Amino acid sequence: MENTAEIQNHLTNKILQQGALVVGYTIIRQKEPVIVIGFPFSDQWILNHPFYITKRFGEEVWTSWKLLRDVTQVLRSEGYSADLKTPLSVFGDFRPLAVAAGLGNWGKNGLVTNTNYGSRLLFAAVFTNAPLQVSLTGNSGLINESCDNCTLCIDACPAKAFQNNRFHKMRCFPKAIRGCSECLQVCRGRVQLH
Ligand code: SF4
Ligand code: SF4
Repeated sequence: MENTAEIQNHLTNKILQQGALVVGYTIIRQKEPVIVIGFPFSDQWILNHPFYITKRFGEEVWTSWKLLRDVTQVLRSEGYSADLKTPLSVFGDFRPLAVAAGLGNWGKNGLVTNTNYGSRLLFAAVFTNAPLQVSLTGNSGLINESCDNCTLCIDACPAKAFQNNRFHKMRCFPKAIRGCSECLQVCRGRVQLH
């Protein structure tokens, strides 16, 4: 490909065509470009237990892995470095990257919330040295402004973990370990996911 704008355009189209819902570009350490990708996620894929997942969840993880691998191959074939971080990575936190890349904003439930998909996005990232433009691309630039006037997640929490502008993690933990995801479920966005 002739220039990085062409590569970026190609990657955006490829990512959105191969199963991702949103994609955005940001930088870390003031200079390292990161491609942040959001895949569909449903709390229904977790079987009321944090370590049991359904076939559907496995399929989504497999789709995301293949897509990340393809993206890194494109970048490397153009002479750039590329390292991937899958949705199952336990290192670091995708949320600041997703917000910086314009994929949503910080929700009152502590998750990233997007106008179309609420908090039902599973994030992955590719780190590269390709000089990609930090910009909102594809269908990603949808900040969830409705969060300002909404308290659905706070009201739905059975442990009353969001009180007095604080997140009480010790109230959440006993519920969350049994698979509670009420605060995620109620933040649904405009688009129906299956
Ligand atoms: S449920 Fe409402 S308040 Fe909670 S994160 Fe989603 S949009 Fe924001
Ligand atoms: S996981 Fe359940 S208990 Fe924890 S904050 Fe969300 S709704 Fe409340």
